[in-house]
Amino acid sequence: MEADSDIKTTPRGFHCGLCNVNLPNQSSVDQHVKGRKHRTLHAVRSTRKTQERHSVFVSGITPLVSQSDVAQYFTQFGPVSDVVMDKDKGVYAIVQFAETDSLQATLSRVEHQLGGLKLRVKPREQKDFKLIPKKNASQNLQQALERLKPQLCQLVSVNAQMQYVVERFQLGDNEKKARGLLVQLLQEVFVEFFPDSQIQPFGSSVNTLGVHSCDLDLFLDLDNTKVFQARAKSTAEQAGEGTSDDGRSEDSILSDIDLSTASPAEVLDLVAAILRRCVPSAHKVTVVSGARLPVVKFHHQQLNLQGDITINNRLAVRNTRFLQLCSGMEERLRPLAYTIRYWAKQKQLAGNPSGAGPLLNNYALTLLIVFFLQSCEPPVLPTVDRLKDLACEEEECVIDGWDCTFPSQPIAVPPSANTQDLSSLLFGFFTFYATFDFAGSVVSLRQGRALPITDFLGQGEKPTKPHGPKLGPVNVLDPFDLSHNVAGNLSERSQRSFQKECQEAHKYCRSLQYQRKSAKGKSWGLVRLFTPRGEAPPPSRPEQLTISIPFKPASLPEALRGRLHEAGGGGFRLPWFREVCAAVEAVLGGVLGCRLARPAGAAFGAESLADAEAGTASPDASLNDSCDSVGSLNEGGAVAGAKRPLDDDDGGAAESPRGKRPRLARRAKPEPAHWVCVQRHAVWAGRRRVRRELVKDTDSRPEGSCTELETEVTARIAEKEPELRGPLEVKVQPQVIGGTESTKAVLRLEPVSDAAGVFHDFFHFLEAFLPKMVETLLENKASASAV
Ligand code: ATP
Ligand code: MG
Repeated sequence: MEADSDIKTTPRGFHCGLCNVNLPNQSSVDQHVKGRKHRTLHAVRSTRKTQERHSVFVSGITPLVSQSDVAQYFTQFGPVSDVVMDKDKGVYAIVQFAETDSLQATLSRVEHQLGGLKLRVKPREQKDFKLIPKKNASQNLQQALERLKPQLCQLVSVNAQMQYVVERFQLGDNEKKARGLLVQLLQEVFVEFFPDSQIQPFGSSVNTLGVHSCDLDLFLDLDNTKVFQARAKSTAEQAGEGTSDDGRSEDSILSDIDLSTASPAEVLDLVAAILRRCVPSAHKVTVVSGARLPVVKFHHQQLNLQGDITINNRLAVRNTRFLQLCSGMEERLRPLAYTIRYWAKQKQLAGNPSGAGPLLNNYALTLLIVFFLQSCEPPVLPTVDRLKDLACEEEECVIDGWDCTFPSQPIAVPPSANTQDLSSLLFGFFTFYATFDFAGSVVSLRQGRALPITDFLGQGEKPTKPHGPKLGPVNVLDPFDLSHNVAGNLSERSQRSFQKECQEAHKYCRSLQYQRKSAKGKSWGLVRLFTPRGEAPPPSRPEQLTISIPFKPASLPEALRGRLHEAGGGGFRLPWFREVCAAVEAVLGGVLGCRLARPAGAAFGAESLADAEAGTASPDASLNDSCDSVGSLNEGGAVAGAKRPLDDDDGGAAESPRGKRPRLARRAKPEPAHWVCVQRHAVWAGRRRVRRELVKDTDSRPEGSCTELETEVTARIAEKEPELRGPLEVKVQPQVIGGTESTKAVLRLEPVSDAAGVFHDFFHFLEAFLPKMVETLLENKASASAV
C-alpha cells in the first residue's frame, strides 16, 4: 500500500515522510495514516502525480500566444483539460490532457509549429511530492532574536542588556502621541452618541510596560451617560416629550436603547455600529460577547493598531493604575518586566493572540513578577495590603465591592531596602518559580504570600462557586477582585512548560555564559536566555520513564475537597496521594486487567496506606518511602539548597494520618513502595477503534471518561488479540511531589521482563491514558478511601 511506503522505521519509532512527523509506536502509526492530514496529503499527491503523467512541457512560445491558442493547437492530439502558462513572460506552458494516449501522440510528433513558432515539447518533469513546511513560530522568533543579538552581545553587562531591552521595545513618544490622538478622536465621536461618556485607555498602552505592537485597551465609561439618560427621560416625561434641558436631542442613539437595562452585548452592538460608521480607518469591527468581559475589537488601519473596547471594566483601569504605581515606586520593575515578557514570548509561554488561549497573558505574567518582587528578601515591592495602609482618606477607592485603595503617588511609599541588581533579580525570578508549588498554592499579591490551596477547598464550597476563584494549574488572585484567578485560563501543559523553562533558565543563570561577556564575541547573557524553545522536547531516557498525575483541586469531589481542606496547607498531599494510589491501582488492575503484585515484604500503594491507618501493617513505611523520594526527584530539579522535603511543611505531607511524625530514623531502608504490574495483552493496540465500535450507537465519550466502557474495551481486545509473546512485567513506583515544585503524583516505570519488546508502547499509552482515567475515577468517587 502506498500509505505504508511513507512510513519508515527509525531508532525512536517511526517517521511519516509524507507528513514529516515522528510517531512513537505502531498504534500511533495506525491512527496517523487514518487521520485527516495524512489522507489529504495522500490525495493531493495522487492528483499531482496524475496531472504530471498527463502533461507536457511546452517552450518556444512568445507572450503574444494566448492560453486558448495553445489549447486549440494541442486539441488535435486529444481533449485538453488544462493549460497553465507562466504569468509574466509567457514563454512556456504546461498542457494537461484528459487521457494518457494523447500524451504519447503529442510526444511522437517530431515537430510542432504554432502560428509560425517552432515549439519544443517535452514530457513533464516528475517531481517528488514534498510538504513545504511553513516557517514555524520558532523560526520567526529566532529571526527576531538574530536582529537583536549584535546589540545585546556588545553591551558590557546583563544589567545593561536588560535596560537595552526596554529601550528597544518600549512605546516611543510618537507612538504614544498617535495612540493619544486616537483616544481623543474616539472620545469626540462617542460623546456625540453617548453624552457625557468617557473613553479611558488602560492596559499596556498606559501601564508603562507597553511594546511597539501592543493593543490599545479602552474602557467606555457610560455611567454619566446613564445619569444623563435618566434625567432626560424624566424631564421629557414632565414636559410631555421633546428635548432635554441642555438642548441635546433625545432623538439620538439613546432613544434606541435604555442603558439602565440593556445587556452589555446590546450596548456593544451600538458601539460597533458607531465605530464602523463614524471612525475613519476602523476596520474589522467585531463584537465578542461570549468572553468573560464582552468586547468590541477593531483594527485601526492607518495606525496598524488593534483596539479593544469594553464597557464593564472599571477594575482593569484601576489595576492599570496599580501597575503604573509599582513601576513609579520601583524603577527595576520595567527592565525586569520587559525582559521576562520577552523571554516568555520567545519560549512561547505567554501571549494569546486571539485573546483567549491556554497560555499566560501579559497581565498575569506581570502579576507573577510583582509577586516575586514582594517575596524577595528584603521585599522590592510592598504588598497590596501595605499600600492600602499607606493611602490617605481621599485615595480610598471601592469598585464593584472590592477595595482598590492605594496611594496615587509613588512618593507616598517608602523606598525598598533591597539593593539587588537587575541581573540577580532576573536570576531570582527563575529560581523562585522553578521551585514554586503552583498546584498547591494560590498567589496573593494582597498579602504578598502564597496561600495554601486548601484555604480554597472548604467543605461544601465548590471552587467554582460564584465568589471563589476558578482554581487551576496556576492560581494568581487578582490584587483587587479577590474572586478572580487571572491565570484561570492556563492549561496544565502551559504550567508545566512555564515551570520547566524557569528551571532551564535558572540553570543557565548559574553559568558563566550568563554572567560574563564573551571575549570571543559569542552569545552570552540574555541572548542565550532568549533562544526560542525548540520544537521537540528532548526524548526521555529509558531509565527516567515517568508519568505525572497533577493535583487538580477543581475536579475533585466535594467530600475529598473537604478532607483536604481539613488536612491543611502541608498535609493535604498525603490524603490526596492515597486517593491517587487507589485510583492507579483500579486503573491498572481493574480497567486494564493487569495482574498487580507486590514483592514479598514490601508494602505498597494505597492498600498499605489503609493498613497504616488501621494500624495493622507496617504503618508509614510505604508512604514515607514515597514522600522521601520527593527529595530524590528534586535532585534533578533546579535549586541547590532550595529543596524542602514534604515533611518539612507545616503539618507536612509526610506526617502520618494519625498525626504522628514518621518513623524515619529507626526504620531500616526497605525497598521503596511499588507495584509489579503484569500485562499479557497489548491492551493499547487498536484501542480507539474498539472504543469507537463500542460507542457507535450510543453517546460518544472522550477516551478515559468512563470506567465501565474502558474495562469493556480491554476485555474485547484481550478476547480478540493473541497473548503477548511473553508477559510484560513492569515495576511501578508511585511518589508524591510538592512544596518545592508543583504538587503532583509521579509514577516511575521500569520494565522487569519484556520478551515481546512492548514496554515503550505500553508506557506511551499509559502516559496519556492513566492521568485521564485517574482523574475520572477521582471525580466520580465521592471518596475512595475515606478515613
Ligand atoms: P499586552 O496588551 O501588551 O499583552 P496588557 O497588560 O495590555 O498587555 P491585555 O491582555 O491587553 O494585557 O489586558 C489589558 C488589561 O486588561 C490588563 O492590563 C489588565 O488591566 C486587564 N486584564 C487582562 N487580563 C486580565 C485578567 N485575566 N484578569 C483581570 N484583568 C485582566
Ligand atoms: Mg493590552
